[in-house]
Amino acid sequence: MHTVLFTYFPTTLMKQSTTPRVCVIGAGCSGITALKNLLQAGVTDVVCYEQNSEVGGNWIFTAGESHSSVCETTHIISSKTLSGYMDFPMPEDYPDYPSHDQVLAYFQSYARHFNLHPYIQFNTTVQSAVKHPDESWEITLDNGSVERFDYLFVANGHHSVPRMPQLPGVFEGEFLHSHSYKSSNPYRGKKVLVIGAGNSGCDCAVEISRVAEHVGISIRSPKYIVPKFFLGKPTDTFNEVMSFLPKPLLRFLQKISLKIQIGSYESYGLKTPDYPVVKSHPTLNSELLYKIRHGKVHPRKGISKVSGHEVTFTDGTTESYDVLLAATGYKITFPFFDADFLDYSEADRIPLYLRMFHPNHPSLVLIGLFQPQGAIWPLSDYQAKLAANYVMGRWQMPQNVETLAEADSDFIEREFIKSKRHTIEVHYHPFLRTLARQIPKGAPEWSGVPSQAVHS
Ligand SMILES: Cc1cc2nc3c(=O)[nH]c(=O)nc-3n(C[C@H](O)[C@H](O)[C@H](O)COP(=O)(O)OP(=O)(O)OC[C@H]3O[C@@H](n4cnc5c(N)ncnc54)[C@H](O)[C@@H]3O)c2cc1C
Repeated sequence: MHTVLFTYFPTTLMKQSTTPRVCVIGAGCSGITALKNLLQAGVTDVVCYEQNSEVGGNWIFTAGESHSSVCETTHIISSKTLSGYMDFPMPEDYPDYPSHDQVLAYFQSYARHFNLHPYIQFNTTVQSAVKHPDESWEITLDNGSVERFDYLFVANGHHSVPRMPQLPGVFEGEFLHSHSYKSSNPYRGKKVLVIGAGNSGCDCAVEISRVAEHVGISIRSPKYIVPKFFLGKPTDTFNEVMSFLPKPLLRFLQKISLKIQIGSYESYGLKTPDYPVVKSHPTLNSELLYKIRHGKVHPRKGISKVSGHEVTFTDGTTESYDVLLAATGYKITFPFFDADFLDYSEADRIPLYLRMFHPNHPSLVLIGLFQPQGAIWPLSDYQAKLAANYVMGRWQMPQNVETLAEADSDFIEREFIKSKRHTIEVHYHPFLRTLARQIPKGAPEWSGVPSQAVHS
């Protein structure tokens, strides 16, 4: 039984006399906030299907391969100050950058606090989701049962299906993706080449360098490696203060502050990118540059050829490696949709209004399908709040939603470097403000339990 209490909302504004039936796929940090916001908005007939046996999605670390892509030593790269749901801050005694098990404990206490478990059907995989012409959904589960819903909220995550690079040749050593990397132990005494200098690549290179004989990191195109602290404060809290500044000034200050803190990338054997920091998804890592200067991680160019254990780089040098670890990102997949219905796995452009509404499918809501320069779940929370009010008829989809969705993708292409990596990229603060502006005034707020809550 749930204990939802919400503030008064005039019933004259309600479009529906009975509440719709809503399905949520996934009980990761996006799914649980979708569930919470639906309940808060007054949707009582809601079921969340989760293939795991607990809440937490990507943050449920496992020693073996699973949905999760976190490893033994993962800490978040967004600070705790900016990584809280709007009504449930992270515990005060958490460090600036909590570990994966603290993040998981936080999500689990959120689910307990808002009494979400009665609405989650664990150990249940959605096998197919088919939309009918009347916009209703037929959901088939792995236990064979079939359910009908009015709306489908998809929160299945986009960091669990590896995007493997095509190697130019045949490598005879171990070749794995960072999704499968769980601990540095198997790489003790080995020669390891990490491919890619995104967040996972730099984390893996640093961790493996503690035990390996040699660690290289192959960087095809220059990247900004940004320290996690600036003037003693988490970097994202600094960016928050600067986010209101005019763009040219913001870009100038970001460039200068990086220069003051790390000097020139060339002094680490790297190249300075020829675009502003905010035009790409940043890599936040305070240890990689340190490890490079200590001779523990060796920057290398892109790979031009692989043969046996030999790797040749684009500058003509060749080295021998035991292991190639590809930290080359993830594919967006919806295994429960027919590929003809919706498939973004190789998309170069993903036009969605507010990164959540598809113009042709008004009863479909995608929660968390964006990549912020900051934490995902606070923004999923705002998306979910808007979507919950939408299904309750308190917010209308604009009539020109198709134009707006295309404009959204045009904006991404202008703002960020054109690549698969950036098809769903958003600037954290502006995106949050855009979502917040859409949430109808008088929308129900959760009440009944103080929000600085019970992190038990
Ligand atoms: C190493 C690493 C570090 C990261 N660090 C950060 C960070 O610092 N800050 C940040 O904001 N983000 C970070 N991320 C991104 C991370 O993906 C998000 O934090 C977050 O997990 C996204 O939550 P989600 O609920 O959208 O997806 P997920 O956490 O992936 O949850 C999706 C859920 O859906 C379930 N599911 C999927 N398919 C089905 C199905 N067919 N039927 C039933 N259930 C299904 C899964 O089991 C899972 O529980 C990191 C990612 C990685 C890989």
